[in-house]
Amino acid sequence: MTQYPHLLTPLDLGFTKLKNRVLMGSMHTGLEETKDWNRVAEFYAARARGGVALMVTGGMAPNPEGGVFPGAAGLYTDEDITNHKVVTDRVHDADGKIAMQILHAGRYAYAPNCVAPSAIKSPISPFPPTELDADGIEKQINDIVTAAMRAQEAGYDGVEIMGSEGYFINQFLVTHTNKRTDDWGGAYENRMRLPIEVVRRVREAVGNDFIVIYRLSMIDLVPNGSTWEEVVQLAKAIENAGATILNTGIGWHEARIPTIATSVPRRAFTWVTKKLMGEVQIPIITSNRINMPDVAEAVLADGCADMVSMARPFLADPDFVAKAASGKSAEIAPCIACNQACLDHTFSGKLSSCLVNPRACHETELTVEPSDATKKIAVVGAGPAGLSAAITAAERGHQVTIFDKASELGGQLNMAKQVPGKEEFWGLVDYYKTMVAKAGITLSLGTTATEDALTGYDDIIIATGVAPRDPAIPGQNGPNVLSYIDVLRGKAEVGQTVAIVGAGGIGFDVAEFLVTDESPTEDLQEWLQEWGVGDPADTRGGLRPEGPKPDAPARQVTLLQRKSEKLGKRLGKTTGWIHRAGLQMKNVQMIGGVNYEKIDADGLHISHGEGREDPKVIEADTIVLCAGQVPERSLADTLTEAGHKVHVIGGADVAAELDAKRAIDQGTRLAATL
Ligand code: NAP
Ligand code: SF4
Repeated sequence: MTQYPHLLTPLDLGFTKLKNRVLMGSMHTGLEETKDWNRVAEFYAARARGGVALMVTGGMAPNPEGGVFPGAAGLYTDEDITNHKVVTDRVHDADGKIAMQILHAGRYAYAPNCVAPSAIKSPISPFPPTELDADGIEKQINDIVTAAMRAQEAGYDGVEIMGSEGYFINQFLVTHTNKRTDDWGGAYENRMRLPIEVVRRVREAVGNDFIVIYRLSMIDLVPNGSTWEEVVQLAKAIENAGATILNTGIGWHEARIPTIATSVPRRAFTWVTKKLMGEVQIPIITSNRINMPDVAEAVLADGCADMVSMARPFLADPDFVAKAASGKSAEIAPCIACNQACLDHTFSGKLSSCLVNPRACHETELTVEPSDATKKIAVVGAGPAGLSAAITAAERGHQVTIFDKASELGGQLNMAKQVPGKEEFWGLVDYYKTMVAKAGITLSLGTTATEDALTGYDDIIIATGVAPRDPAIPGQNGPNVLSYIDVLRGKAEVGQTVAIVGAGGIGFDVAEFLVTDESPTEDLQEWLQEWGVGDPADTRGGLRPEGPKPDAPARQVTLLQRKSEKLGKRLGKTTGWIHRAGLQMKNVQMIGGVNYEKIDADGLHISHGEGREDPKVIEADTIVLCAGQVPERSLADTLTEAGHKVHVIGGADVAAELDAKRAIDQGTRLAATL
């Protein structure tokens, strides 16, 4: 008897059957743009082998003006069709199913030739769109229909028509972006004409035995978004127009409410999809922050949807479904919703990967094969770099011992998991514990590794991490000064007023930790209130008229840095704004361009600029030092001086810009070569 009876039940679509209730949602990985079709095929085939019922590709543009950026992938030529056939054949050989997403970006297209229902620039693009005339609209519809026909010719099992997230089709639906007065604007019947025509004509073109998913924005999270009545009306019309399945879209890209970041509670929006259940007869998919089989099972058991969509979890672990089905859920590498190697890469024009799985999108390039000879390998340091190296090496057949002076595995991950909104790190540490045990790795915890203890190993990997940087501020050894380690390890009393020296990732984390009593990430109702999310049946677009209502801050915090740039500028590309907005809601004062003069009983004395002008005291009971980190490589140096050959990875190698993404990638890549 499986633990996941709902999740693993097949879904009969009449003309075809899905083997379970799991959809791999669309992600733009950048793979198609590499034009290495073997690589694209292997990415999808690995997920098909891992048991997912149906996958949706990244968005394919129906025409150049609809591409998210110039040169975005699409199926324009016969050669494109031949290339995509490499992918669909490989997926079918692996007993998988795959649908192609057709994504017309409308005014979100990052190019001057973008088009939209009305000439209203989006707040997230510098390019004002050209308003389409009636012929122009017909052309867009025809191009979408042609893309669907080409997808069918390329062997796809279906298409997903992207009607949500504020893209082209969504732009027609709401008065926020559609000011037209012709047949395509005005009354709701006119504004929803475009999606209905698109689905109707696509169905007509592809025949009955082809999956047509329509992704419908169920809560826009923007001013003047759709009402719930309109959502239901549209869903019924889309069903009548011939869609096979409805998928859920949550929030426009320009929304100022986080929808998928790690601080968003798990399954935070499945209640929205649930409202649509029973309104239509076709299956409905729900999505957003569903990352483990138990969460997905509960969503289905609660009647929130007929299927669940998970996207990033399939970057983290291609074998998600197979592991769940064989009782090995604890071995699923968990997506921690950090966006660091996926969306942050996409928005920086880089190929996607995954923080917890560097092989994602690198399947053909980073291979982990059994080694020819078994080596004895010592890994010093049980943080992300050491753990990933140890597990990969052991999986290849080596005999591995991990040394760490701490008594538990995880290194800095154990600090990260204490931060409100970063609870997913608990699961990551648990996953590493499971995999270390499974791989038969010997543990030597709670002991400091010495040269003697490390003698006799074929390879020594030094992953000793980092030490806090000394900011050398006069008075920093006083009783009112703490390091971030004291704070995040929960060992120290922190006063009511706090000044934080350093506004990098850790300064922001410490500020979050100090202003928050109970993490809203653990309490959906509180989180919805904090960000001002309401029921779309009560308030248009799901925005509460009163706006965000966070709890009062637990402490009065001032966050400082020496650089005069905006604080938090270097945080994650897609998540930095959330950290900044979160702290602003908690009245955290952010001050840049300072010099630290001294610390005394009154607090932190600062001045401004090169002339050390405008001296003042930031009155604080406690000053927390978060001034960055330096490599901890004393052991590496000792061993090297004694003539041992060592491999130094993670923060011990380079501390600047260190994050778990680089640490895990470096550890995995090293171990793949030993
Ligand atoms: P960091 O990001 O390098 O920030 C260090 C901070 O200390 C900066 O604000 C810097 O600003 C300040 N600083 C540097 N030298 C100083 C000195 N001598 N005296 C006083 N202040 C000094 O380092 P971190 O905050 O320790 O974070 C470490 C790494 O963990 C980061 O690279 C980060 O990516 C990662 N991390 C990421 C997240 C995330 O949300 N993605 C969260 C936590 C940690 P000024 O030089 O302008 O003063
Ligand atoms: Fe999930 Fe982070 Fe991996 Fe993206 S990089 S798939 S958010 S764990």
